[in-house]
Parts: sequence; C-alpha cells; structure tokens
Amino acid sequence: MPPLSSMGLARFADFERGNFDGITYLDTVFTRSAQANNENIHFHELVHVIQWRLLGPEHFLFSYANGLDCVGYRQSPMESMAYDAETTFASSAAIFSVEKMVAVKLGI
Ligand SMILES: [Zn+2]
Repeated sequence: MPPLSSMGLARFADFERGNFDGITYLDTVFTRSAQANNENIHFHELVHVIQWRLLGPEHFLFSYANGLDCVGYRQSPMESMAYDAETTFASSAAIFSVEKMVAVKLGI
C-alpha cells in the first residue's frame, strides 16, 4: 500500500490501514500467502487488472480514488464491479467473458 497519508492524502487513511487479502497494481497481483490458492480472490484481482488495462493507469487511479472518496471502499464502482464479477464466478460454472463484462460496465 502506498503511504497515502504521508503523501498528503489523509482522506484515504482508513483505506491505507485496510487489511486486504489482495491488491493489484497494473498487471501485478499481490495476495496474502494464506490466500494464494483462493481462486475467488484471484478472479477479483483479475477484474482490477482488466480495469487498469482498459482505463489506463491515470484514469483507473482517478476513478478508484474518486469512488473511494465519494462512497467508500465496498460501494466504490471499481470494487463493486470486482465483487459482483467475483460473485458471478463463485456461484456459477457458466463460462463468461469477464473482460467484456468489465468493458460494458465501464462504458468502453
Ligand atoms: Zn478489489
């Protein structure tokens, strides 16, 4: 986690202290070792990889921070999208294109 508070972004202090199982930067996913075999978390983070790629780093970071600031972590559009896709993945054996799902939700 970047040191957001010491970078002058104190409004994200709660997020900075979050105890997350995974986090994604561009196309690199980090998970806690205890979650290394958790497919649902990998899928969730895959959604963020797609978001980073489709939006580009600047727009992704703006959108993520804006959602976090306006409605909080869980309700932010980027997280809501990832959690919704994760639920679909976890609850069904149906094959679907997560890249297409993300693109549609982003309006791309
Ligand atoms: Zn997430």
